[in-house]
Amino acid sequence: MAYVCTHCGKKIKQIENFVRCPYCGSRVLVKSRPNIPRDVSTD
Ligand SMILES: [Zn+2]
Repeated sequence: MAYVCTHCGKKIKQIENFVRCPYCGSRVLVKSRPNIPRDVSTD
């Protein structure tokens, strides 16, 4: 299960008990879904 840091946007693999982001130290991480719902940009 991959996670994404909401602060720096880095992808993090295998989080152990929700550790901090190794890049920025943020504790706010969200699960990265296979299909990321991007902004509706359909013309
Ligand atoms: Zn981060």
